Amino acid sequence: MAFSRSRFLPILKAGRRSLSITFSQKFSASQHSYSPQAKVGFIGLGNMGGPMATNLLQKGHSVVAYDVSPVAMEYLQDEGADIASNPAEVASKVDSIITMLPNSQHVRSCYTGEKGVFEAVQPGTLILDSSTIDPTVSKEMASIALKKGAVFMDAPVSGGVNAAKGATLTFMVGGDETEFEAAKELLGAMGKNIVYCGGVGNGQAVKICNNMLLAISMIGTCETMNLGMRLGLEPKLMASIINSATGRCWSSELYNPVPGVLENVPSSNNYEGGFGTALMTKDLGLAQDAASKTLTPTPLGSLAYQVYRLMTNSGLAEKDFSSVFLFLQEKDKK
Ligand code: NAD
Repeated sequence: MAFSRSRFLPILKAGRRSLSITFSQKFSASQHSYSPQAKVGFIGLGNMGGPMATNLLQKGHSVVAYDVSPVAMEYLQDEGADIASNPAEVASKVDSIITMLPNSQHVRSCYTGEKGVFEAVQPGTLILDSSTIDPTVSKEMASIALKKGAVFMDAPVSGGVNAAKGATLTFMVGGDETEFEAAKELLGAMGKNIVYCGGVGNGQAVKICNNMLLAISMIGTCETMNLGMRLGLEPKLMASIINSATGRCWSSELYNPVPGVLENVPSSNNYEGGFGTALMTKDLGLAQDAASKTLTPTPLGSLAYQVYRLMTNSGLAEKDFSSVFLFLQEKDKK
């Protein structure tokens, strides 16, 4: 049965959302489970958000979509979504909201700016932000949401564009644990691993730690492959040995940065598609901010950030992050 906000309006109108009445109690899985008919707002319809919103539609959800790009909205409209003219309009029409925006500034303006979500959010709304942003911004948004009687959880993703298309994303969810089941039910339409990580901001914390390690291992894989090739090794042979030896990692085995070692990865497609260098640079910046705030030494994370910043300023911003292999090669050796 579809949950109905009106059913809860008497409770909600009685005042701000009480901490003792959780979203999942109001919309508990047993009585008011997320039916495909529940109205979902989706803001940010880019490489990731577009396919995620399409999956919601394909699973029967009714979606109200918004993006600053009219082209992105047209695409979703063709897929069956209703289109809104700003985030506030989305918020006024839906029971839950998912955002998938580039960075912290975009998230802040989408929620707190003019015609932003918080101007019109309905009490009882479940808000899930899947963008990768600063955990402190997630906490800030959660506290404003609470004052409006809504629930905000951070739910960044791992898996990339193919996982977004195939609804196999991993979601790292931070927020009030009592709301997790409701979040899981909705996110299940777009992913296969929905993991509770603790309080709000913890999803982002896991995500930026993972991406710092990913960047370090990608740079390591690139410099290793480059050295081996310059020693005369054939890259496929080298990768196959590394992948059955102690140097194996995700970047060497499943996302090898050398063109032709693997099919269907960005390096074999002129580093197009995938996860952009500019976005990886942003995530490494978030990791460095977090390291500074917590006085944590991250020498390799810091170096990785500088490598990716240089790449971003060297014409590789829009290329996949595995293009660090190109960056390390001398031009006459390419
Ligand atoms: P993208 O740039 O392709 O899409 C972002 C979309 O947000 C664009 O369509 C843009 O027009 C829209 N937008 C920007 N500001 C807006 C606003 N104020 N209101 C409404 N729409 C707005 O980015 P993406 O690749 O989809 O990534 C989105 C988030 O997911 C980022 O935080 C990224 O770090 C994270 N992420 C990306 C990947 C990946 O492989 N691309 C993987 C995991 C996580």
